[in-house]
Amino acid sequence: MNVDAPMAPRKPHFSPLKMAPFILVHVVAVVGVVASGFSWKGLALAVALYFVRMFGVTAGYHRYFSHRTFRTSRVFQFLLAVLAVTSTQKGVLWWAAHHRHHHKASDKPNDVHSMARDGFLWSHVAWILADQNDGTDEKRISDLTRYPELRWLEKVHLLPVVAMGVVLFLAGGWKALLWGYFVSTVALWHGTFTINSLCHYIGKPRYRTGDESKNSFWLALLTMGEGWHNNHHYYPRSTAQGFYWWEIDPTFYVLKALSWVGVVWDLHVPSEAVKSAMRVAEPVAPEAVAIPVPLEVATSDAE
Ligand SMILES: [Zn+2]
Ligand SMILES: [Zn+2]
Repeated sequence: MNVDAPMAPRKPHFSPLKMAPFILVHVVAVVGVVASGFSWKGLALAVALYFVRMFGVTAGYHRYFSHRTFRTSRVFQFLLAVLAVTSTQKGVLWWAAHHRHHHKASDKPNDVHSMARDGFLWSHVAWILADQNDGTDEKRISDLTRYPELRWLEKVHLLPVVAMGVVLFLAGGWKALLWGYFVSTVALWHGTFTINSLCHYIGKPRYRTGDESKNSFWLALLTMGEGWHNNHHYYPRSTAQGFYWWEIDPTFYVLKALSWVGVVWDLHVPSEAVKSAMRVAEPVAPEAVAIPVPLEVATSDAE
């Protein structure tokens, strides 16, 4: 796949067979709840598994595998990958390759999901389902493909999903499966997708990033801190996406706690100079422009 060729939906093709499971999960969630009725216990289970797996999305897929903003052991790297794929958003290699492309081409003609260029539906969900984005450009993720266990998990990324479904069913029957997987996963999908779509549309930019990324408190609440998306586009190598104490970033708080017990380390945060440069409200200062905004990811090994 040539990633420098336009990947946006000039003439997208969708295979009904490949879309069917995605649509079916929505149908089961809605019909299941309507048929079996509302349940507070079910809702609590759905919310709990939403946030546990959102951590897998934000700390795993995004801040670790896509941007390598912190370091960890090879064992925890694998556990993060397993937790991430229970969100049913394909393998970590696919996710990271497409996300790295998004940063390279944000809101430019070949951005894989640009709300500004291609509208809400495409940037929110259609780009994931389009046949043209099925493949993974391995050149973008050579720092990850060197781990055989990650390549194996990529091939069997639905295995943890099935295992989670079986555990839920055995523990709590159909209702636990309905709320714990189907309802929770539909919410988790759309919660995650808002960052690709709405976070390039609603909220305010703090930094001049050359794209449409915004900071949104409400989307940060929904996504454990990913709503500080303009901060993130400005300085993607930071583990923290909330740059100030009032920018709620639960993913970073959990990673910070894990660093205290040695599970992760080398968390990266921006310096005061980086945080105060390149503000949209200020005129361009030469010394501010000179501050590097690294887009490339670190490639150090897990240990
Ligand atoms: Zn990113
Ligand atoms: Zn973005």
